[in-house]
Amino acid sequence: MRRFMAIIVSVLTLVGCGVQENKTQRSFFAMDTVMNVTVYGDNSEKLVQQAGNMLDNMSVLWSVTDENSEIYAINHSGGGTVDISAETSELIRFALEMDGLTDGALDVTLYPVIKEWGFTTGEYKIPSEERLYQLLKYTGTQNVILAENSVTVAEGTEIDLGAVAKGYAGDKLYKYLTENGVTSALLDLGGNIHAIGVSPDGSPWRLGVRSPDGNGNVAVLEISDMAAVTSGGYERYFIGDDGKRYCHIIDPATGCPADSGLASATIVGRHGALCDALSTAVYVMGAEKAEALWRKIGGFDMILITDGGDMLITEGLKDVLSIADAFYGELKVIS
Ligand code: AMP
Ligand code: MG
Repeated sequence: MRRFMAIIVSVLTLVGCGVQENKTQRSFFAMDTVMNVTVYGDNSEKLVQQAGNMLDNMSVLWSVTDENSEIYAINHSGGGTVDISAETSELIRFALEMDGLTDGALDVTLYPVIKEWGFTTGEYKIPSEERLYQLLKYTGTQNVILAENSVTVAEGTEIDLGAVAKGYAGDKLYKYLTENGVTSALLDLGGNIHAIGVSPDGSPWRLGVRSPDGNGNVAVLEISDMAAVTSGGYERYFIGDDGKRYCHIIDPATGCPADSGLASATIVGRHGALCDALSTAVYVMGAEKAEALWRKIGGFDMILITDGGDMLITEGLKDVLSIADAFYGELKVIS
């Protein structure tokens, strides 16, 4: 490769956070990314520590590279059946359901293809069409048989939960923290935001939606008790010998980086796992199919930024989103 670039940025940022006593904020490295957990109130120190342990445990369970992970065992099973925890089974089941709902745009069996492009090792390359054609035979839900405590994947099929795990982890932490009395906390799990309760001054959390070109915010979103998850081609990519940009989100139909006309897709909703799955899928599908999906299943809102710099938002965000400095395109509200 002539040039290489890998950028991981937090795509949603906290805007103007108040200062308050009894606040614990800590960064963790889990699931291949930096995660920030901020909890307000009594006991926050202990709760954040336990949140970190939970993130560590989930990270180990679902890593594609850690030899002790359940995903590693599945991916090296040679077609055999592997015992898995209830959580892993639940997450794979959810991902398979989302594969169906998104017409295959979210596909957790894409790992052989993702690996071939070098997104796991950083040794990037552009695979030949023949090679991609061969590898795509190992992908698809028909290659996975899931039971309550075990899973069998066809020989050559490999799973990567990277598109859903952070959102799912956000839901687990949300449950743990709220059950322990937390009414104000912010989880930033590598661009997956979970806003718990309200901010310490009692107002909704204010999140900046970053411009895909990295220059400031295009919008500010005010939410409480909601997740907001962004997928963008600019988060992790490389520049090929041909001078083109190749991003880490792959279109399962072609085995190539998605090129749907979107620069980023942000999904807002109650459930982090759903938002995470949909942000990846919508980035692959493009605006038109995303709009059709929103009409069909509902239960979420979205902010789509096109390659041309325009913004499409669904009507549920009309009153909680305001345009910010870095936005220069046209705004369309989908209703
Ligand atoms: P996210 O950041 O949630 O959009 O997830 C992107 C990550 O999921 C990538 O880094 C890959 O590991 C994996 N991935 C890429 N494309 C897909 C896809 N179409 N379906 C499922 N996982 C994918
Ligand atoms: Mg995702």
